[in-house]
Amino acid sequence: MSLDCESLDFDKQGGLLPAIVQHAVTGEVLMLGYMNAAALEKTQATGKVTFFSRSKDRLWTKGETSGHTLDLVSLAPDCDRDALLVRALPNGPTCHTGTKSCFGEAPGPDIAFLGELERIIAARASASPEESYTARLMAKGLLKIAQKVGEEGVETALAAVGEDDAALTGEAADLIFHLLVLLKARGLSLADVVQVLEGRHRG
Ligand code: AMP
Ligand code: ZN
Ligand code: ZN
Ligand code: ZN
Repeated sequence: MSLDCESLDFDKQGGLLPAIVQHAVTGEVLMLGYMNAAALEKTQATGKVTFFSRSKDRLWTKGETSGHTLDLVSLAPDCDRDALLVRALPNGPTCHTGTKSCFGEAPGPDIAFLGELERIIAARASASPEESYTARLMAKGLLKIAQKVGEEGVETALAAVGEDDAALTGEAADLIFHLLVLLKARGLSLADVVQVLEGRHRG
């Protein structure tokens, strides 16, 4: 499914559309660039996000020298078709200053980190058990992980009736972490859980 250049309003801003790049998993805003029709076509043809650089005065594929490319996930115009939302998966920091986003290190809702944590957990599945607690836990199997979730649930409940906020947030963090590992061990993800929650909200 491709976005047709003909249907976009390139005339309003001298042949360029502002293109907001958003992390496809976490929703973080990564950068703002400009696309002309050729940049849009190249982006769609190659799957690598490509802009028209006003300073270079040429097509610029993000990452062409640094290797920190943006893999295209989806493209969508705004309501009046004079701006684009580009959802992408970054290979490395998006900003040339080395930050994850041109808008700083944590340019998204706090909750976005859960998506990142989920990816870190998935990556640890193949790490060596000597180096990674997550890898050790996963190697012990589903029963052991389920038992840990139970323990952390009880610890969270006990902390909730205590006075210490740091103890409660610490136990809640343990619980969420182990729950993510459990879902992963069953081949499920946070997105599957969010779908259930959203379904209930609508229902
Ligand atoms: P890159 O496209 O990552 O190979 O970087 C090439 C050059 O483009 C850098 O030296 C910067 O001048 C510029 N650049 C890279 N990333 C950005 C960005 N996110 N926003 C603006 N300029 C950038
Ligand atoms: Zn608009
Ligand atoms: Zn930047
Ligand atoms: Zn705990």
